[in-house]
Formats: sequence, structure tokens, C-alpha cells
Amino acid sequence: MLKNKVALITGSTSGIGLAAAHVLAEQGINLILHGLMSFDEGQALARTFAEKYNIDTLFDNADLRDPQSIETFIDEALVTMGSIDILINNAGIQHTESAVNFPLNKWNDIIAINLSASFHTIQKSLPSMQKNQWGRIINIASVHGLVGSVHKSAYCAAKHGIVGLTKVIALECAEQGITANSICPGWVDTPLINNQISDIAAKDNVEFEQAKYSLVTAKQPLPEMMDPRQIGEFILFLCSDSARSITGSSLPMDGAWTAQ
Ligand code: NAD
Repeated sequence: MLKNKVALITGSTSGIGLAAAHVLAEQGINLILHGLMSFDEGQALARTFAEKYNIDTLFDNADLRDPQSIETFIDEALVTMGSIDILINNAGIQHTESAVNFPLNKWNDIIAINLSASFHTIQKSLPSMQKNQWGRIINIASVHGLVGSVHKSAYCAAKHGIVGLTKVIALECAEQGITANSICPGWVDTPLINNQISDIAAKDNVEFEQAKYSLVTAKQPLPEMMDPRQIGEFILFLCSDSARSITGSSLPMDGAWTAQ
């Protein structure tokens, strides 16, 4: 059912996005790959996917802080690939600091990349889904779209924002065969959280692995990091026909973090 659909995954050069790209490609889904890497490196990544999975691929390195670049990216992707059937808003950054000391440029970047970019990609992709009366929009929010944590003012504001945006898109598209959901992960083993682990290692004078364990167990009852591929498998389920009634939901995958 999903073979030959086209999926756009922002931030698919690393971590969760890259793992999700492999999971979808295994099903014969064509891929628009995206992320911050040189065009040559990105082209090579796209070629590797095309050859390994026998699918059509495209790469773009649009900086999501710039709405004009997003518009150009999606216009070109639609011309080359013909449609966007599955949109996964995944790209994101983190910066931790108390609100009183939070740098304005970091606030602006986090809101632009983790929240506003998703509004732009959704706005530009929806006409293609509406034309086909089928679509899947999956926003990678966070447990921090549901609860707060100290030193994460911008991240929590953006992630709570994307949970709200998802609900509105689900309502507006409810009769069009298009679903919109947020996935809200706890800790996932990707480069995004390395600075937080290094900070703990330095503060407590412990090895990286010990610091990683401390970070996970401080708030998440399940004492292990998720493998990014687990998120990819959940995305695949949300794309399936069985999940067509799941829309407007904020779905925790958080090792019981928000059960407390
Ligand atoms: P990652 O650092 O491995 O990957 C981030 C991706 O975003 C990369 O492909 C990068 O190139 C892209 N990106 C960053 N800034 C960009 C910009 N300005 N323009 C275009 N692309 C940009 O991170 P990850 O952990 O895989 O994170 C993916 C998503 O999952 C993020 O939205 C993050 O908030 C969310 N998340 C992660 C965790 C976790 O523990 N790792 C937990 C919950 C939610």
C-alpha cells in the first residue's frame, strides 16, 4: 500500500530522521532526504539509498531557519518527485540554559527550526495531499511537548507549539484522508543529546556512558535510551491504513516519563 508513495523527512541526515528513512525505504517508499550537510555528501547519501532500496530519491540542504529556502526546496521537490504523500517534520536542535540567561539567537533558531519550519512545510505540502485525498503528517515533537524541564524554555515552547499545530491540522484535514500526529519521545540515542551528556560527565567527573545512564534515569523510569529505529517503526505504523483513525494525537514513546 505504501510502495511508491513519496516521503519527505526533514533532518534525515542523522539520528531519528536517518533511521526513519531506512525503515520507509525498506517498504519501497521514495524519499526526499534533507539535512545540514554539503550538497555532494547529500547527493551521495541519496544515491546510496536509491541503489540499496531501488527507490527514487532526492536530497536538499535547505536551512530551515529561512522560510524562502523551505519554499524553494518544496517547490523543487514537488516538481521532481510528483507529490509529497508523507511529511515527517523531524529536524530539530537543542540548547540548554536558564530562561534568564537564554541567548536570543538560540531562542530564535529553536523556534524557527523546531516549530515554524513545520508550519511552512505543512502549508506547502498540503495541496499535494489534498489533491490525492491521502496524506500522513508526522511531527517529531518530544516528551517536552507534554511536560516542562528546567533550562529548556525554547525547546519546550517549540515542542508544545508543534503539538498544538498538529491538532489544528488534524481538524482541518479530517475529511480529506490526511492524518496529522505528533510523536513525543523520551531519550533517544542520537547526537542531539551529546552536549547534555558531556555536561553531566564534566560536572560529575564520570565517563560518558555513566553520564548517559544518569541522564536517562533522572526522569525516565525505563532505564534505557531508545534506538532511533524504534521511532522509524512507529512512523511506519502511523503511515499504514490500520492507523487511518489515529489523528490529532500526541503519542508518547517515553518509557513512562509522562506516566508520573
Ligand atoms: P540529530 O541531531 O541526530 O539530527 C538533527 C537533524 O536536523 C540533522 O539531520 C540536522 O542536519 C537537521 N538540522 C538541524 N538544524 C537544521 C537547520 N537549521 N536546517 C535544516 N536541518 C537542520 O537529532 P535527533 O535526536 O535525531 O532529533 C530529531 C528530532 O527528534 C528533533 O526534532 C528532536 O527534538 C526530536 N527528539 C529527540 C530526542 C532525543 O533524545 N534524541 C528526544 C525527543 C525528541
